[in-house]
Amino acid sequence: MSELRANATPPAEDRSAPLVDAFARHVTYLRLSVTDRCDLRCTYCMPEKMQFLPRSEVLSLDELHHLALGFIDRGIRRIRLTGGEPLVRRDMMDLVRALGRRLGDGLDELTLTTNGTQLAEHAAALADAGVKRVNVSLDTLDSALFARLTRRDRLKRVLEGIAAARDAGLKVKLNTVALKGLNEVELPDLIGWAHGEGHEITLIEVMPLGEVDGDRMDHYLPLSAVRDRLEARWTLRPSTYRTGGPARYFDIAETGGRLGLITPLTQNFCEGCNRIRVTTTGQLYPCLGGGEQVDLRAALRSDDPEDGLNSALNHAMRIKPARHAFRIDAHGQTPAQPRHMSMTGG
Ligand code: SAM
Ligand code: SF4
Repeated sequence: MSELRANATPPAEDRSAPLVDAFARHVTYLRLSVTDRCDLRCTYCMPEKMQFLPRSEVLSLDELHHLALGFIDRGIRRIRLTGGEPLVRRDMMDLVRALGRRLGDGLDELTLTTNGTQLAEHAAALADAGVKRVNVSLDTLDSALFARLTRRDRLKRVLEGIAAARDAGLKVKLNTVALKGLNEVELPDLIGWAHGEGHEITLIEVMPLGEVDGDRMDHYLPLSAVRDRLEARWTLRPSTYRTGGPARYFDIAETGGRLGLITPLTQNFCEGCNRIRVTTTGQLYPCLGGGEQVDLRAALRSDDPEDGLNSALNHAMRIKPARHAFRIDAHGQTPAQPRHMSMTGG
């Protein structure tokens, strides 16, 4: 990877200036977490007895809306709502409808990452609000393994949710965490099933984010090994398709579908990073794998929220790191970031 070089001149303190970081990367994509709560307990994501935040710490619907509009004013064109599980937040669909009204008016795309358990109830309303695509997390089609991985017996609901999304006209992209000794052997069948149903699928390596029960890295499965095994069965053609995110894509000749691979620990993908993340408490993380953070909630609750927000965003652009700090050390250990993925939403 070529070295990123810091710009000599930082971006101007302008209220409508696009978000450009110190390495001249244009930030146009926001992942906004609307809750840290969830109705599943995926073993690699959170402990069974997860301590959720008091509601007073979580941004109100108005604050989330205000924040999102502030981002759109600064050139954010794509917003992905996430969590925790976004659909467990009761007023979530109000936010979707409000932001949906900005589609074609500053916003190009509004999407959602969900575990799918409540998608059947909300798919039609999401489509009505202008959402075109949802990412659904699905690690297995085996209901016993699903119950073991998520500590809840909800595979049937998730599959109903995926079917409802398709019936509502939403494009479904599946996200699958590859787990050694768990869903490892099932991955080719899962990919084959997804492509047969017309869904794109992306595999991701497990990342060291937040404490969980046990050591999730026991199940770390490098995707290079998965790719070798898939190539023994199928023809994988590298695709030129890019989203500005960390995934690299392949077209599988035999299935006619697209496969994404996200390898945060084995590959550096930071050069083209166009995204930032905001937690449900309004903490902006310029990098998923870095410790830098900016408190937008304090800015929003200050006497001059607009000015506060813009200064905070400018600061975030100055401190966005060149690359993430995930690493595997000489002992095969991966020092964990203290926050859970359910805080930053992936
Ligand atoms: N609850 C929603 C869901 O599961 O899709 C949205 C939030 S969840 C935190 C977003 C994604 O992060 C999911 O695809 C999940 O599998 C993934 N994830 C959670 N913890 C992870 C970890 N430690 N390493 C890699 N992926 C993780
Ligand atoms: Fe919930 Fe998503 Fe974390 Fe699973 S990965 S526990 S569904 S937030």
